[in-house]
Amino acid sequence: MRLETRAVHIGAEPDRETGALAAPLNLSTTFLHAPDGTQDHGYLYQRDNNPTQVRLEQAAAALDGASRALLLSTGMAAASCLLQALPAGGNVVFQRDLYHGVRELAEHWLPRWGLSSRFVDGRDPAAVRAAVDGETRMLWIETPSNPLMQVVDIAACADIAHASGALLVVDSTFATPILQQPIALGADVVMHSATKYMGGHSDVMGGLLCFARDDALAARCYEVRKLLGGSASPFNAWLILRGLRSLPARMAMHCANAEKVAAALAAHPEVSVVHYPGLPSHAGHALAARQMKHPGGMLSFELAAGREAAIKVAGSTRLFHCATSLGGCESLIEHRASVEGAHPVSPQGLLRVSVGLEHADDLIEDLQQALHGL
Ligand SMILES: *Cc1c(COP(=O)(O)O)cnc(C)c1O
Repeated sequence: MRLETRAVHIGAEPDRETGALAAPLNLSTTFLHAPDGTQDHGYLYQRDNNPTQVRLEQAAAALDGASRALLLSTGMAAASCLLQALPAGGNVVFQRDLYHGVRELAEHWLPRWGLSSRFVDGRDPAAVRAAVDGETRMLWIETPSNPLMQVVDIAACADIAHASGALLVVDSTFATPILQQPIALGADVVMHSATKYMGGHSDVMGGLLCFARDDALAARCYEVRKLLGGSASPFNAWLILRGLRSLPARMAMHCANAEKVAAALAAHPEVSVVHYPGLPSHAGHALAARQMKHPGGMLSFELAAGREAAIKVAGSTRLFHCATSLGGCESLIEHRASVEGAHPVSPQGLLRVSVGLEHADDLIEDLQQALHGL
């Protein structure tokens, strides 16, 4: 079954009892069991597992070519679940251009869990090889990355990690399973913030861990979810499952629009650089063409005039909403350095854009009028 067909059909089996085509939403926190504790119906308590979530996990695993998937309440809960499943001792090597929440986990929380963290430019295989050693538990990459849209070679990183006995984790949130298949390229675990494209409508939070093998690590993550309590609500599982149905169609339009917006920005005199893997000028262009089906719906660009100009543009768009997050139907624009807290890492002249599902020409006209005011 091809990806588009899997997205529509897996986890979508009609309800046996009623014939309902839409997945039933089971909100029950508790399930009948036998007096001796036998789980007659396969469930005990919602925090452990629940039927709506199982449907979503089957669908997510099928889309990523995974043996097992786990849903957590947010992308950050998924990231921390995975890191908390590791034994204390050793290190985790992270790509330097990284979602800021994961960077904070790495810098400030990993040491509390008995692990040290290292940061490396994921685009440089020699640097990655030098950072990974016999004590490395995981190599953690994000591709394309946030916010610089760096593209990292997943297969090369898998080889480097495995040569040292480490696991490769790929945060594939920007790509989704539709554009990129990390497990087929050698990744051991794929992480998604389902809050973004998978949910797709800016109205639900969730995180997914997709495991290449249903092994001890997957079982440990299940225990971490259950005991540390990062379980998602069944309603959120239901919304994300609904989002998956249209994910391939939405991604196709996000990508088509982003390619047009990126080209228009690249041609604009006020714009000094556009970070979009679909542009031949992007350092990761050839790799993205090999590793991704399309270059995605996210991009960032920098203004030669710097910080004040960037903030002015973010305040002058009429269609693009000035808001964080990404992957919804509506286009968003954001001055990342302003929302990264006390120690911003994004360039001051950088604006990040989530290209939505409006008409590309309306989006381009909106950015052009906002840039015109500079
Ligand atoms: C949003 C995001 C996260 C965190 O996910 P939440 O659902 O907000 O907790 C992690 N990684 C990337 C790349 C993201 O964009």
